[in-house]
Amino acid sequence: MVLDLASRYAKAAFARGVRRILADSSPRSLVRIWSLLEKVASTPFDRLQARRFRRLVEQGHPFGAWLGRVCRELNPRAAECLIRNLYGNAWFLGRATRRRFESAHAFRPPDIIVFDVTARCNLRCEGCWAAMYGRNEDLPRGLLERALDEAEREMGVHFFVFSGGEPFLRPDLCDIFCAHPDSQFQIYTNATLIDDAVAGELAACGNAMPMLSVEGNEVLTDARRGRGVHAEVLSAMLRLRERGVLFGLPVHPHRPPSRPGHDGAARATRDDARARPRTAERLPHLPGGLLE
Ligand code: SF4
Repeated sequence: MVLDLASRYAKAAFARGVRRILADSSPRSLVRIWSLLEKVASTPFDRLQARRFRRLVEQGHPFGAWLGRVCRELNPRAAECLIRNLYGNAWFLGRATRRRFESAHAFRPPDIIVFDVTARCNLRCEGCWAAMYGRNEDLPRGLLERALDEAEREMGVHFFVFSGGEPFLRPDLCDIFCAHPDSQFQIYTNATLIDDAVAGELAACGNAMPMLSVEGNEVLTDARRGRGVHAEVLSAMLRLRERGVLFGLPVHPHRPPSRPGHDGAARATRDDARARPRTAERLPHLPGGLLE
């Protein structure tokens, strides 16, 4: 109980500090954020890590330049959520809770939890498993909320990845983000459903970072995902950028199928187990940056 109170106090103090520091856009503000993390970090290890990050920022490391750009270009709520939830709650302030959980249950909780929030998808990309599943298979809202609540409160997890199917087919998606303002959400999406209304909701929540899938250029993307999809992804990026929402691109390097209808990934694993897979998905678990 005492530890829970201390953890809540540290999180609240960090949140207040981040809001105050971000209001001052001077170059020193990033250094002050890391100094604050050093003070409130939940373990000696995290204090040491926060000090290392502060020094990187002071020494002009590219990480500092990236974070400075994020703070300048995101809308104020998104910048605050990124620093408070991802660097604060999920990383430097959540470890004490995770360690307590591990001692009590002999099980180390994960740093990140991935939920397939739906099996539905509005596209039929070549080689994707989503088309094989039923069209009504959403993770029930009550079960998802319960899992999120327990992960936050008992395991100290504050970084969640939502995948699918296409997560934005769920009409309650942004409501879920808003119901968990102390956590950061990363959403793997085909981007075709991010219209003005959805982009506005994401900007208002502030704690969701869409990762917009492309295969590469227009030819490659449209060949796998359908004609016009690449243009829709670019439109979604512009909507998000205009509203200062952080978004990224998952990189899916792959070799085109060797013959029509051939699923490179499935064949590589099913028919030729000794061959190196010819299709891979490298999905970064940190925000990939802003559109140039
Ligand atoms: S958008 Fe994603 S989930 Fe949907 S069919 Fe394409 S690869 Fe599969």
